[in-house]
Amino acid sequence: MSFLVAAMSFDAHLLEKYSKPGPRYTSYPTAPYFSPEFGQAEWGAELRATQDSGRDLSLYVHIPFCDTLCYYCGCNMVATRNYARATAYLEPLFAEIDHVAGLTAPGRLVRQIHWGGGTPTYLHPDDIRRLFAHIQSWFTIASDAEIGCEVDPRELTAGHVQALADCGFNRLSLGVQELDATVQQAVNRVQPEALIRETYGWMRAAHVDSINMDLMVGLPHQTVAGFSHTLDRVIDMAPDRLAVFSYAHVPWMKKHQTLIPEAQLPDLPTRIALQQLLLERLTGAGYVYIGMDHYAKPDDELVIAQRNKTLYRNFQGYTTHKNCDIMAFGVSAISQTDQVYVQNAKDLKIYQQLATRDGLATERGLRISKEDRLRRDAIVRIMCDLELDGEAFSRLWDIDFATHFADALSQMAPMQADGLLEREGLMLKVTETGRLFLRNIAMCFDAYLHTETTIQPRYSKTL
Ligand code: SF4
Repeated sequence: MSFLVAAMSFDAHLLEKYSKPGPRYTSYPTAPYFSPEFGQAEWGAELRATQDSGRDLSLYVHIPFCDTLCYYCGCNMVATRNYARATAYLEPLFAEIDHVAGLTAPGRLVRQIHWGGGTPTYLHPDDIRRLFAHIQSWFTIASDAEIGCEVDPRELTAGHVQALADCGFNRLSLGVQELDATVQQAVNRVQPEALIRETYGWMRAAHVDSINMDLMVGLPHQTVAGFSHTLDRVIDMAPDRLAVFSYAHVPWMKKHQTLIPEAQLPDLPTRIALQQLLLERLTGAGYVYIGMDHYAKPDDELVIAQRNKTLYRNFQGYTTHKNCDIMAFGVSAISQTDQVYVQNAKDLKIYQQLATRDGLATERGLRISKEDRLRRDAIVRIMCDLELDGEAFSRLWDIDFATHFADALSQMAPMQADGLLEREGLMLKVTETGRLFLRNIAMCFDAYLHTETTIQPRYSKTL
């Protein structure tokens, strides 16, 4: 899709105009709307009732531990140097896997596995092998399954990478964020370029199919010159994919972010310049901008799936595995069937008690309505296909698109005027510029944002 390289345009005025809080839509409805009324018993019943759904499986495992705290962190994590806590965590985790696997029809194929955190590579290599073998002993994993893991270069050894490769992990994601030393110190994540190059080399030597690097913009003391140098070095390493997130400063939700004084954060013009630099440099280096902060090489399967309209979006971000139920294990992990979302207890101690006692640790969830499902479909189509055919959508969902989404269409009118969208009849197409504002466009279809409720989610800004 080389046209993207040349055509991706950038307008600082638009970025400023559309920078407002909004969900990232890894689910719809979003997690704040999950309810404690849908708990363990309901999830157990849903699992029993959906085994012949014909849907394959995606497994997620959450390892919450990290050696140290990165001040920008937005994840469910526990900073500790006491490895015994990780060993103790594996027991309830195994109990949860055993219980869910026991409820799962044996023939269901696992298409995707992802380990996230926290830091999954906090686990020692032997425990990585032990956990993977445990999963393998219960589930039927497709021979071409996508098996991914998030990797922290600090404290990593060649032994960790070898253990992951031996288990069959074929997608590793390396947390880089920023190479500038001042920024690294300000966020308490010091990892020199030499260290990153060394760990990256281990992954390449282990013939891992695809390596992603995570970067972050909007960090304290970040400058255009410093980030430009980071991009030079990263492009030189040539990862297969890049995920570049905007730092979400939400100290009211994540107390430790108060360790980042607001005065150290780049101002709006700098954040806009950083976004501009990012887009120009990565597309200039041949990466395709998929949307929602994700870039990939033109022959990457995400890019191909986007072209073929088979791309999907769920809790693991963009994925090529659309019709999968997600079975998620570990503290705070979110599972999903076609019509249900559930989240495990977010408190580590409570998770461990529940999983040990009951084999499930569900804390809250939601059975979604037909209206939720069709709106989710509209949001996913915008975010993945970058277009939505209202007439086909009407037939699929048995609605009159123009009437049903009259509000959404009127909210989109200014976006059309700003060149984010093109509309011909009921055919909506996101423009190249509009790719930068997918969240804003998707928000037009979100009924919860426009409904009076007692729930007041506070989302991060889009920029
Ligand atoms: S390594 Fe990741 S999960 Fe752990 S503190 Fe840093 S950002 Fe958070």
